[in-house]
Amino acid sequence: EHRDIATPKRTKEILEKYNLSAKKSLGQNFIIDTNILENIVSAGDISDETTVIEVGPGIGALTEQLAKKAKHVFAFEIDDRLLSVLDDTLSPYGNVTILHQDVLDVDLEAFYEEHLKDAKEIVVVANLPYYITTPIIMRFLESHLSVDRMVLMMQKEVASRLSASPGTKAYGSLSIAVQYYMDAHVAFIVPKTVFVPQPNVESTIIRLTRKEKKDVEVKDERLFFTLARAAFVQRRKTLWNNLLKAFGKEEEVKAKLEKGLNQAGIDPIRRGETLSIKEFGELANAFSELEL
Ligand code: SAM
Repeated sequence: EHRDIATPKRTKEILEKYNLSAKKSLGQNFIIDTNILENIVSAGDISDETTVIEVGPGIGALTEQLAKKAKHVFAFEIDDRLLSVLDDTLSPYGNVTILHQDVLDVDLEAFYEEHLKDAKEIVVVANLPYYITTPIIMRFLESHLSVDRMVLMMQKEVASRLSASPGTKAYGSLSIAVQYYMDAHVAFIVPKTVFVPQPNVESTIIRLTRKEKKDVEVKDERLFFTLARAAFVQRRKTLWNNLLKAFGKEEEVKAKLEKGLNQAGIDPIRRGETLSIKEFGELANAFSELEL
């Protein structure tokens, strides 16, 4: 007889059997509610055509629910204490591969070549370790591994930055970086009570779906991202002031900045937070011609 991992009772048994305590430094909060996990899996539209990449399987709670629906699950876990646990808890599932690696050290292109070349669709699903939420998301987005969707649990504040619209307080370079590639929507909110141990912060599930067409074709992505960061260095200052700070105050630079802004049709007295992704892209394209 097999019982789900994600119940208070079974989780407690597993932690006791292996004499495990959650490592705070690794962002370990284990889910003990099968319902939440089923909702995550359905937000991911996981089917037998889906190859899933999971970050941080922990003791296997989410991995198990994914394995029931997916073609295959690849899960990266950094904590070596969990390897024998996962070997045990996930033994009923033949379609799971645990990789003992820091997800930030994985060469995703090489991983793709080795494991994902024939995948029909690739979906990243994770209850993220919160101390590295942003770097993990950016690694997947910037890699050439084409992820179709991502369903991610993260801290509420980060979730609102990811999904923010222009003109709001939460809108910034992270919103732009993510929404340049993906449409971002809050799927649902998660109460603290579904974790052991309970985290100090509120959690949200975000669903990211790859844009069929980007808002803007950016010629120089590095410049685009530099610009998007520069515009928010001092949020309360104008775009013009932030641009001078980023690129320099020399007359020659000023002339180029003016020319680019003019070409993109953007008023320099606006604040960065009012610019859409399309406008940032058009500005970056105008600047890229001017060799700033
Ligand atoms: N998936 C499990 C669940 O939902 O119950 C555990 C989620 S827990 C919030 C985060 C997991 O990420 C932990 O298992 C932790 O050991 C793992 N982790 C932390 N840093 C990592 C890293 N750099 N690479 C891979 N896994 C990591």
